[in-house]
Amino acid sequence: MFDKLKSALSSLSKIATHTTLSKEDIDSFLWDFEVALIEADVASEVIESLNSNLRAKLSGMKIPRSEDREKFVREELKAAIRETFSKTKTIELIQIAKSKASKNRKEEKGPFVILFLGINGVGKTTTVAKFARLMEKNKLSVVVAAADTHRAGAIEQLTEHANRLKVKTIAQSYGSDPAAVSKDAQLYAQAHGTDVVIIDTAGRIQTSKNLMEEMSKIVRVVQPDIKIFVGDSLAGNDAISQAKEFQKYTDFDAAILTKADADVKGGGALSIVFITQRPILYLGVGQEYDDLMPFNMEDFITSLFEKSD
Ligand code: GDP
Repeated sequence: MFDKLKSALSSLSKIATHTTLSKEDIDSFLWDFEVALIEADVASEVIESLNSNLRAKLSGMKIPRSEDREKFVREELKAAIRETFSKTKTIELIQIAKSKASKNRKEEKGPFVILFLGINGVGKTTTVAKFARLMEKNKLSVVVAAADTHRAGAIEQLTEHANRLKVKTIAQSYGSDPAAVSKDAQLYAQAHGTDVVIIDTAGRIQTSKNLMEEMSKIVRVVQPDIKIFVGDSLAGNDAISQAKEFQKYTDFDAAILTKADADVKGGGALSIVFITQRPILYLGVGQEYDDLMPFNMEDFITSLFEKSD
């Protein structure tokens, strides 16, 4: 009997202390967030989807009267963004590479192969070099494959980075088959007990069917352990269409966003994760070899809302 009374009293107090958000409130809060997300370069389809999910969730929701309503809605939006990120697989890249390397040392299973994908100018070659440094810092030996056999200067550019890092480059001449270069590097690593192969690829415009077929061929021939899409955080919606195209042809496993040092908001990260359901592993944060930072979701969410917080 007392229980009944208690629950009756508590629901009464709920009515008094809780309120629902009006449609106008929701419209106004969502409008503000929409503007913030647009300013942060989040793709429009992502904003629409987040907004409509949030609207459905907030309609009729009871919130404490004492609560700052705008803050409450913002926290809900953050939760929706967190959920987007949590749907992606966690990839402990260094750990996986180390485990394959130790198997390779014992049973000659072959190197850990990383394939980098992305269009010209996004920072792919620089990221390959940063990765070579990262692997070596983790006591993994590296060979890089110059599989961009199209762009003038691409082979020399990679070789120069590799020389600076004291890493072996496998290259052939311009015009040769990128899949053959990649395979060469894999065989070299196998023969020399090298732990990791990092493949730099070509990146002529993303809509080029030839480019995508070339990437698919490399994938078929070397069967990389991980395929990483490299996107430029300054490219906004372009980075999203590039990611979609590469995903269609190569089904990449993860992404890296470069030039995050120049990008204050970085909505591209949210868009790529939302659209491709692939995790962002690292952010490129400068032009030096050590300018590679593991992606941290909470830091990212904080920076996304910095202005509105
Ligand atoms: P690729 O054509 O995709 O191989 O691009 P590159 O590796 O040649 O890089 C293009 C330019 O972007 C170069 O000037 C790099 O130094 C620069 N770059 C690459 N990554 C970053 C980064 O994380 N931050 C900044 N600020 N610049 C970067």
